Amino acid sequence: MTATQPAPHPLTGQPFTSPVPPGTGWPGDPATARTPRARDAEQVQRLASGARTLPVLDARVSVCRACPRLVTWRESVATTGRRASFADQPYWGRPGPGFGDERPRLLVVGLAPAANGTNRTGRVFTGDRSGDWIYAALHRGGWAREPFSRHAGDGQHLDGARIAAAVRCAPPANRPTPAERDTCGPWLDREVRSSPRRCASSSRWAVSASTPSSPPPAASAGPCRARDRSSATGSRRR
Ligand code: SF4
Repeated sequence: MTATQPAPHPLTGQPFTSPVPPGTGWPGDPATARTPRARDAEQVQRLASGARTLPVLDARVSVCRACPRLVTWRESVATTGRRASFADQPYWGRPGPGFGDERPRLLVVGLAPAANGTNRTGRVFTGDRSGDWIYAALHRGGWAREPFSRHAGDGQHLDGARIAAAVRCAPPANRPTPAERDTCGPWLDREVRSSPRRCASSSRWAVSASTPSSPPPAASAGPCRARDRSSATGSRRR
């Protein structure tokens, strides 16, 4: 997919082509031009398990190209398929890595990014209605600095919490395939191993993805336990 003519970032004004090349100054971009890219499921597994920190994991997620259908879709939306109301903005056009605390106690897991949300803004569940609900709930619970998340670079900050998706690229019709979920799973497995005490999930798929088989689900001894969405509204002080 051909990159577009540069357009100004809506907050910083810096011009970017779409999809955004890694390491070119997009707010919060965790990657550089040298970040290794996964091009198949085996490479996702190797790069995820070898990420020693969550920032390294985020960088690797953000340049992943392991699912051909999703790569084609996310980049086609970013170049020729933008929503009319965002046509003057650059689109991130890359996977949405997790966002939030590097040592989370709470991990919120959704299904997948939106084509004109994360795929535009570069931050998970940002710029769409699902994000409005999630970040407002986290703010009420004392986990988020702001009750909204509008765009990477808007000053939002999570303390003790992290948000991630079971599938990191926007899928056509908001429906990733089971194979795509499985290919993307090692990224989330690695995030779950960052030792959050609680997981909150907003869909059955995300619930199943946030309780990986290795290590086993936390119902007995694992580091994280799938919870229903009410967990996201709980106070951090509980
Ligand atoms: S869905 Fe996950 S595994 Fe597939 S290309 Fe996106 S980040 Fe990579």
